[in-house]
Amino acid sequence: MHEQLALIFRALAFAARRHRDQRRKDVQATPYINHPIELAELLINDGEITDVNVIAAAILHDTVEDTETTIAELENMFGSAIAGIVGEVTDDKSLSKAERKRLQIEHAATRSDAAKLVKLADKICNLRDMLSFPPADWPQERIRAYFDWAHAVIQQVRGVHPQLERLFDAEYARKP
Ligand code: ZN
Repeated sequence: MHEQLALIFRALAFAARRHRDQRRKDVQATPYINHPIELAELLINDGEITDVNVIAAAILHDTVEDTETTIAELENMFGSAIAGIVGEVTDDKSLSKAERKRLQIEHAATRSDAAKLVKLADKICNLRDMLSFPPADWPQERIRAYFDWAHAVIQQVRGVHPQLERLFDAEYARKP
C-alpha cells in the first residue's frame, strides 16, 4: 500500500512539474495537470482499477507527447512497465495531425489492455471537457468531428472494460 501510494505521488509530482506551464484549451484555461488527475480519478472510482501501473501511466500519459519528457527518462524513474504503457499511448509528433489521428484508430486494437484503459479514460475525459468547457475557438463542427474521431478510436478497444465503455457511450450520446 505505502509503496503504491509512493509511486502514484511520485508520478503526480513529476507530471505536475512537467506540465507546469501548460493550460487546457477550455475557456477557463484550466491547469493542464487537472486532466491527468481526472483520468486517474475516473479509472480508480468509476473503473475500479487497482493496477498501480495503469494509474501511474494515466497520470504520466501526456508527458512525452506534450513536454520535454522522454520514454527513457520515464523508464529510469518509473520502470519499463509504466514507461511502456505511456509509449503505447503517445503519438509520433513528427507526423501530421491528420496522420496521427488516423494512426490512433489504426493502432488502438493492437495496444495492451493497460494502454486501452488509459486511452478509454482519456477519451471520456476529453469528451466531458468539451461538453462542459468547449475550447474557446472551436466551431461546433470541429467539436462534432472530434466526438466522431474519439468514437472511432474507442470502437477499436471495445471489450476491455464494458463499464467504462458505457461511460464513453453516455458522453458520446451528448454530442452537440
Ligand atoms: Zn490526455
